[in-house]
Amino acid sequence: MSGAPYDVARVRADFPILATQVRGKRLAFLDTAASSQRPLAVLEAVDHYERTSHANVHRGVYQLSQKATDAFEGARERVRRFLNASSTREIIFTRGTTESINLVAQSWGRRLGPGDEILITWMEHHANIVPWQMLCERSGATLKVAPITLRGELDLEAFEALISPRTKLVACTQIANALGTVLPLERMIAAAKRVGALTLVDGAQAVSHQRVDLRALDCDFYAFSSHKLYGPTGLGVLYARESVLREMPPWQGGGDMILTVSFTRTTYAELPYRFEAGTPHIAGAVGLAAAMDYLDGLGLERVQQHEQALLARATRALRAIPGLRIIGEAAHKAGVISFVLENVHPHDLGTILDDEGVAIRTGHHCAMPVMEFFDVPATARASFGCYSDDADVDQLAAALGRAREVFG
Ligand code: PLP
Repeated sequence: MSGAPYDVARVRADFPILATQVRGKRLAFLDTAASSQRPLAVLEAVDHYERTSHANVHRGVYQLSQKATDAFEGARERVRRFLNASSTREIIFTRGTTESINLVAQSWGRRLGPGDEILITWMEHHANIVPWQMLCERSGATLKVAPITLRGELDLEAFEALISPRTKLVACTQIANALGTVLPLERMIAAAKRVGALTLVDGAQAVSHQRVDLRALDCDFYAFSSHKLYGPTGLGVLYARESVLREMPPWQGGGDMILTVSFTRTTYAELPYRFEAGTPHIAGAVGLAAAMDYLDGLGLERVQQHEQALLARATRALRAIPGLRIIGEAAHKAGVISFVLENVHPHDLGTILDDEGVAIRTGHHCAMPVMEFFDVPATARASFGCYSDDADVDQLAAALGRAREVFG
């Protein structure tokens, strides 16, 4: 489709689930930030793999096992290319962003001790908070948190002031899931490098919404989940710079991650297999590769433009609703819009909107510190993907108008 104008109707036709009716109403699916829907190309790739190529990988000499191994390793190469990483040795398949971050905390984190610091931001998902808290408890290291402003932006000066030679890792999100804020990663990574700290980027909300070039970004770790990139659930990726990975001990032990095992001594497999114990999610990897082909076919830059236009339309429409407060008004935002409506608990709002066919997320979005900062128990959040359209935004605005009438 590259070259032609972005044809969202055609994109929508690729996603069978979008034809679903909710109580006789058109479905406006506005919860892509929680999990995106899958296009036919992904469903078919998984189905084809299951029907024609499935066996366990890396183990059999028979033809089917080799086919499965080729499919799985082909997917690894596809991920490398999508991210512009240097080598497939740097691409580790995990269960998701959460597991990717836990891998780093449990393996790389073993080197930390009292006096060492990890720096995160106030707008992280729990997946990029709790593993570091657990690591600090184990190791005696200290967790530092860079503050945010009332607009939902990082206080960059305060962030830079918190960096010191004690900082061993800066771990931050690329796009904040509860606010939509796009973080100034280049400056943050440069500041970390000045003191020799490593950097981990939580790319869960970014990788399917903007082009990610890891060689340009130059972080040490990058984590994301397949299910937020139009691929299957149960699969994620950890990118880790090879020189860093070489120094890291394995974290989970078992099959596939070893070279030899005896009761006196076990030796470990080469990168990246040393970090992939047990049978992986082979069909998931095939699906993720198909999702990457699909997104590249649409053109990520055009998807991003499309989502920015939807964000602008939604922001205009929501600002016009009396009593509605948008939470997170950063200058640089992705297609996520969090809000609260006066006198209506977000959960009630979610139920009313569901009656109108509008699927949004309500709650703390696994970002309780953000809720605490803005002094709200929860927010409602609408988020966009490549298939979202003006009708979704208009349906949301109309449903909010009706909620306003119900609750006065
Ligand atoms: N990080 C961010 C920014 C997220 O938005 C999410 C999921 O919403 C996660 C991490 C966790 O992803 P998963 O549950 O797929 O591991």
